[in-house]
Amino acid sequence: MGPHYLENFLQAAFDVVGGAGKTLVLGGDGRFFNDRAAQVILAMAAANGVVRMIVGRGAILSTPAASHLIRLNKTDGGIILSASHNPGGRDEDFGVKFNMANGGPASETLTEAIHARSQTLSEYRLWQGADVDLGRIGRHRIGEMVVDVVDPVTDYAALMESLFDFPAIRALFQRGFRMRMDAMNAVTGPYAVEILENRLGTMRGTVVNATPLPDFGGLHPDPNPTWAHALMAELMGPAAPDFGAASDGDGDRNMVVGRGIYVSPSDSLAVLAANAHLVPGYAKGLAGVARSMPTSAAVDRVAAALGLACHETPTGWKFFGNLLDAGRVTLCGEESFGTGSDHLREKDGLWAVLMWLNILAARGQSVAKVMADHWVRFGRNYYSRHDYEAVETARAEALMAALRARLPSLPGQEVAGLTVAKADDFSYVDPVDGSVSQGQGVRVMFDGGSRFVMRLSGTGTEGATLRLYLERYAPGPGGLDLDPQQALAPVIAAAEAIAGIVAGTGRQGPDVVT
Ligand code: ZN
Repeated sequence: MGPHYLENFLQAAFDVVGGAGKTLVLGGDGRFFNDRAAQVILAMAAANGVVRMIVGRGAILSTPAASHLIRLNKTDGGIILSASHNPGGRDEDFGVKFNMANGGPASETLTEAIHARSQTLSEYRLWQGADVDLGRIGRHRIGEMVVDVVDPVTDYAALMESLFDFPAIRALFQRGFRMRMDAMNAVTGPYAVEILENRLGTMRGTVVNATPLPDFGGLHPDPNPTWAHALMAELMGPAAPDFGAASDGDGDRNMVVGRGIYVSPSDSLAVLAANAHLVPGYAKGLAGVARSMPTSAAVDRVAAALGLACHETPTGWKFFGNLLDAGRVTLCGEESFGTGSDHLREKDGLWAVLMWLNILAARGQSVAKVMADHWVRFGRNYYSRHDYEAVETARAEALMAALRARLPSLPGQEVAGLTVAKADDFSYVDPVDGSVSQGQGVRVMFDGGSRFVMRLSGTGTEGATLRLYLERYAPGPGGLDLDPQQALAPVIAAAEAIAGIVAGTGRQGPDVVT
């Protein structure tokens, strides 16, 4: 909101991407400043020679819907206004994201070029004129540039209808299946109401917090058990519906919950992979699957059983984008509540919810039964993430450096009853473009499929977040219904013995456990 800030960022992007002759998609999650920023972007696009902008009505588009519009209209890319799952409001977060012609996030090469350009910028170009009425669907003009205001939901809903068995899901709801969808006052509301209530016929009022608000009504639109606690309480309570789901600020993340059972994102990805053939859009089978490195290996078990290629990538959706573009994978996901497929190039919250509904309708089973059957067939990857927040950056970095130094000596050692099979600092060679990403997080793997992963994120003035990802594999059929923290106790003990987290951070325990 500061003078010239947004303009400078955009001019750097236009200078690198080139505005002349281009068509772009524009929309955002409706948070504070969304409407004003959209007008600035349109005025700058016109001044930079863009020929056509496709804009969601009210400057609203979920991230997945924007990705779809870019692909559907074969545009040169798009601009998405969001700060994802972070709170919104005058004093909260805002973000501008450039997506490429494939519909996915800008590549590292592109973002680095934009940043470099921002360091040498001396001017920006802005069309001087009245605001466009973004409330009115249809064709508008700014100078030579066409502005097509479109319904934000229609094309996305049609895509979902082409992938899923809507009659089967409708019949499921007619048989009395009840669900709760918490849109958290963020952008998914209008999409969920149209698809779930209008087209699939679930009860009116199934979608709650359905109106996107500039401050998300004070909610923190991050779909996890902590921030979606109202949904969790309802699904664990005496009057629980059959199924619950939540999504984030810009609609690309999802959390799914069954009556009395929480489904971790890692398990959700595995279940979707194992059952995708039940969904019309994936009936032909999967080309392969991918997960981010810290995500549990539950999907690896499915891939091994089904004979599918399985890729382990660094964190960040762009790594999946390369694999999807090359046709090497069909489904992908990450532990941070992101799941998606080759239908677009972003993660997609509502898509994941519809995958689950379609699978539940086809199997005629509860979420608890689907999970129980899954674990019996593939074994269970107990999983948890422990976050140590705002750790003094120097301390956090020293802890990681000490752990890295110990890695070569670990294999073969027995720690807390577990034997280290392999220990490394994850690096990734992209099989499509050959690019190498190093230092992506420390992995310590034990015999039998257990492991822990440690990474730092958000190093900055307020310190770093140390993330400890814990995983233990139980092959089944016994030992499948333990409490995750209890099941993970040996891995937690081994991580402490190897990494010295208590001494290194000065903390007795994690701040957040998911
Ligand atoms: Zn998001």
